[in-house]
Amino acid sequence: MKITIIGAGISGLSAGCYLQMSGFETEIYEKNSKPGGLCTSWKVGDYTFDGCLHWLLGSNESNPFYTLWSELIDMNSVEFVNHQSRVDIEVKDHTDQNGSKVFHLYTDIARLEKYMISIAPEDTGRIKKLIRSMRLLQRYDIPPEIKTQPAFYSFRQKIGMIRYLPLLLFMLRNRYVTNFTFAEKLKNPFLREAFRLIYDGDEFPLLIVTMPLAFADLDGTGYPIGGSLRFANKFEEKYVSLGGKINYHSGVKEILVENDRAKGILLDDGREIRSDIIVSAADWHFTVFRALKGRYTNRKILDLRDGNIFQVYYSIINVSLGIARRLDDLPHLLRFPIPEEFISPDGTVYSRMELHVYNYDPTLAPAGKTCVSVSFYTKRGDFWIDLHKYDHQQYEQIKRNFAERVIEILEQKFGGIKDFVEVTDVATPATYHRYTNNWKGSIQGWLPGKNLMAPSPVAFELPGLRNFYYSSHWSLPGGGLPSVIKTARDMAKMIARKFNGAG
Ligand SMILES: Cc1cc2nc3c(=O)[nH]c(=O)nc-3n(C[C@H](O)[C@H](O)[C@H](O)COP(=O)(O)OP(=O)(O)OC[C@H]3O[C@@H](n4cnc5c(N)ncnc54)[C@H](O)[C@@H]3O)c2cc1C
Repeated sequence: MKITIIGAGISGLSAGCYLQMSGFETEIYEKNSKPGGLCTSWKVGDYTFDGCLHWLLGSNESNPFYTLWSELIDMNSVEFVNHQSRVDIEVKDHTDQNGSKVFHLYTDIARLEKYMISIAPEDTGRIKKLIRSMRLLQRYDIPPEIKTQPAFYSFRQKIGMIRYLPLLLFMLRNRYVTNFTFAEKLKNPFLREAFRLIYDGDEFPLLIVTMPLAFADLDGTGYPIGGSLRFANKFEEKYVSLGGKINYHSGVKEILVENDRAKGILLDDGREIRSDIIVSAADWHFTVFRALKGRYTNRKILDLRDGNIFQVYYSIINVSLGIARRLDDLPHLLRFPIPEEFISPDGTVYSRMELHVYNYDPTLAPAGKTCVSVSFYTKRGDFWIDLHKYDHQQYEQIKRNFAERVIEILEQKFGGIKDFVEVTDVATPATYHRYTNNWKGSIQGWLPGKNLMAPSPVAFELPGLRNFYYSSHWSLPGGGLPSVIKTARDMAKMIARKFNGAG
């Protein structure tokens, strides 16, 4: 049976591998010249700028995702770096007991507990409770039974789920606790400000902090040395070794349907490719509303499109710099206030900056030099996409202004930057959209709502359409590589069960 897959991002490559392993003959059609989609890096001069991975859940055996990664790639061939601090947050208004404005979110949770209590002995109870919640998370495989979907649990597996009851109760009790609601309860003003600013002033479920910390403490959230494209290449190698075929420079324009059955794809260059099953691992909005012209929808899908269920995740303006000196004394990730807030041309007001210093990956810059990038998150990706389309000159000018501003701020704050900048590169939502087709330049699909227990909004199948399947980072709010491999695997199993009785 022949299966056509749209997109060679990690979703498409994972789906391809699992389908090949299940005995299908698959071919991937990818519009770019390389695998990886958003999971990519690019070279400018002697510098390699990374556009994606800061951490990979399941980078060691302590997390069940390791099992899935290991099914597709040789994890021993990847060197991971585990940072001592997840992020350093410089607050604006308060200081700790030593006069420092910088809060370190240590990944060693015993150290974090001691450190927070030393800052805020008056909050000892709350701090201990927070740390206890991380230790509770560490006691469970999350997600449970990673290789099976709940719908297919055996009787024994279902009974075994009883041991997850305390975790479920914990999650239910804490599903609406956010960094803001947690901060409100803290007495210490420095710690309170730090938690409010943990997402640079936005409010998100606290579990988004506590869960990764619980796994980071066990060294299970490492960064892969060599960067994202090198990591993505490993999936391509595996797919090809399983007999899969990738067609690059092959953008898909339309999914061909006859009698409500997907029959093939029409490429941008006019070629028609026929197959028994079509899998889209490309952008959700493009797939449903352009490739299929919005013919297979229901109320829920329209509500999703209209923003009534989830918002689209942020897009990003990434200013990357190649600096001709070492920056060993800077943390790998620092969020800090800027002297004067500035209003981006898209209307977003920034009063803080997020600085990534890749001083821990020697493969990205020549010896004695460093790659840095500064990220600005925006929900107004469409502004950049339209500007790029309709006023390219203005778009380029705005990018230059952004970069100049960033360099000035870094110079003022750290010194020794401006004269050492050898290379500048600015990626905007228009770049992410152009390169990967992601709707509004979203970097992780849907933004998770306040309730992390909310069910996934995107199904593998579309109503009324046969022989068509969908899986990507739009399948689970929050996206990210772990959700991508898990959904691709589950979808491939579903196809295998249906069409060849395997899975
Ligand atoms: C700045 C940034 C930081 C991130 N950090 C992390 C992190 O630290 N950890 C983590 O786990 N995740 C992270 N992510 C998220 C992660 O990269 C994504 O969730 C994941 O890579 C999405 O994979 P995907 O295959 O579902 O989608 P995509 O990567 O978007 O892949 C879709 C593919 O389909 C192709 N395509 C689209 N339309 C067509 C068409 N019409 N015809 C042919 N091909 C098409 C695209 O070119 C692309 O190759 C980050 C993302 C960004 C941008």
